[in-house]
Amino acid sequence: MHVLVVEDEQHLAEGLRFNLEAEGFDVTVRENGEDALADFEGKKSRYDLLVLDVMLPGIDGFEVIRRLREARQFLPTLMLTARSRPDDVVKGIAAGADDYLAKPFDLGVLIARIKGLIRRREWIGAASAEPAEQIRINGRLIDFKTLEIEVDGERQPLTLMEVNLLKYLIEHEGEAVSRADLLDKVWQVQSDTDTRAIDNFIVRLRKYIETDPAHPECLLTVRGVGYRLNRG
Ligand code: CA
Repeated sequence: MHVLVVEDEQHLAEGLRFNLEAEGFDVTVRENGEDALADFEGKKSRYDLLVLDVMLPGIDGFEVIRRLREARQFLPTLMLTARSRPDDVVKGIAAGADDYLAKPFDLGVLIARIKGLIRRREWIGAASAEPAEQIRINGRLIDFKTLEIEVDGERQPLTLMEVNLLKYLIEHEGEAVSRADLLDKVWQVQSDTDTRAIDNFIVRLRKYIETDPAHPECLLTVRGVGYRLNRG
């Protein structure tokens, strides 16, 4: 397992390296977003997981994860946010992060979160082997094992968060699911957080599963509540 740490505070970066290496991970540290992105250019990434600080010199962590997801790099990503800026959590998740941790944090908690992300990725594959590894929504094939969706014969990767959200909606098919529920059950963040992050994800999922994303027939908005999924 190779972890990329993007953190400009040298003291913290070295602390992360030391502790992650002690846990058996290979670790590479980059001090800014541009250098981190350069590692992903034109080749398959050698990293299995990303620890990404929000506040960086040059482009910030939101922009880094946004560009990585745009470049179809879907490695699990833990974002380091400032405790004084709770909106950063939602912003980070909306940009494509899978989990977050507020600074200052306990290194033991960070290690646990990283292991959690790795486990979740493995769990999605293993658990979905049970009822159905693959599910169809509106003729699109969703492969929970490879975290991919097949649209018109072309496979596209999904992020962990997108898969978790789809899974939750599928489990509650036909029911109106509230945004607060999604924040709590899928993202595990407090429901007093801004719910717009969810709407961004829904827009993205509609692009994958709807014939006409502007007029959804599967992933429906339930006014004043949230969303409802019909597989079609
Ligand atoms: Ca920083």
